[in-house]
Amino acid sequence: RAEITTPEALSEEGLVELSLRPQRLAEFIGQKKVKESLGIAIDAAKARREPLDHILFFGPPGLGKTTLADLIARELGVNLTTTSGPALEKPGDLVGPLTNLREGDVLFIDEIHRLRPVIEEFLYPAMEDYKIDIRLSEGPKAQTVTMNIEKFTLVGATTRLGMLTAPMRARFGLVHQLAFYPVEELEVIVRRTGDVLRVEMDAAGAHEIAKRSRGTPRVANRLLRRVRDYAQVRANGIITLDVAQAALSLLDVDHFGLDDMDSRLLRAIIEKFDGGPVGLGTIAAAIGEDAGTIEEVYEPFLVQHGFLQRTPRGRVATAHAYRHLGFVPPIGSAE
Ligand code: ADP
Repeated sequence: RAEITTPEALSEEGLVELSLRPQRLAEFIGQKKVKESLGIAIDAAKARREPLDHILFFGPPGLGKTTLADLIARELGVNLTTTSGPALEKPGDLVGPLTNLREGDVLFIDEIHRLRPVIEEFLYPAMEDYKIDIRLSEGPKAQTVTMNIEKFTLVGATTRLGMLTAPMRARFGLVHQLAFYPVEELEVIVRRTGDVLRVEMDAAGAHEIAKRSRGTPRVANRLLRRVRDYAQVRANGIITLDVAQAALSLLDVDHFGLDDMDSRLLRAIIEKFDGGPVGLGTIAAAIGEDAGTIEEVYEPFLVQHGFLQRTPRGRVATAHAYRHLGFVPPIGSAE
């Protein structure tokens, strides 16, 4: 059951996640600097009665990018329209959403690195001058008309900053990176979700769930829901340390919340490449995952938690990674 700690949303989670979303910026836990700078930008925009600058969020899945877009719109008191890079096939798909915007509204584009080039081109004048060029017919001699749209704020989110084109990136006034959450903050998130779901837990139980959540609020909330089920059926409904540990080991959740891809990546380095150093492209080929995704979604957590080192000659598995996966670290391997 590797799915349980995946940072990406599972198909059935959409509605649950909506109900667990903070309703005010102040309820958004952690990411102190991002929150503070957003708060200032929002207050300033409101005071000047101008739309907020376009904002780009980047960072691994499940850290709160979509939630922040929603909170920005709420704090500004404007409407939010949501779409995503892969959902937009042609510029025409954006004409409706853009022309329906009212002044100051927020348009959120998730996975913005996956916009097709024609759509990017179409967005530039919208972002810069609040104008769009509409083609009246097809073909090389097609006529276009330029149309004004209301001043709006584009909020973009990406897990892959490196894949965003330079001109697109340059059009965002504010760019914020979301980092993995420390355990103490995840604990607060778990407790808050526990209140929303009306499940009782003690501090040690909340801590155990937080510790195994891979630094990711989405995973923390998911683990809490599963542990709650266990507590109801096998215990008296209260999440204690024992209950959390028993439930999580039944679900095969690793102590650090490493997911299947994390383990496959580390195992490949250890088993196929003697612990490294090995190049990113080689690892990618060995485990059948895209190099960019490994670099921007999986590696940051592994590096931060001392499982992996990035060296000029390639990736190296640390002694910590060997032990964690049940191997004996080679003599002299990096801690
Ligand atoms: P992303 O867009 O980065 O993939 P989401 O915004 O969809 O992540 O967040 C996933 C889930 O985690 C949502 O249910 C959200 O409410 C919750 N969440 C994320 N960040 C926080 C936070 N800082 N405080 C409380 N809940 C959070």
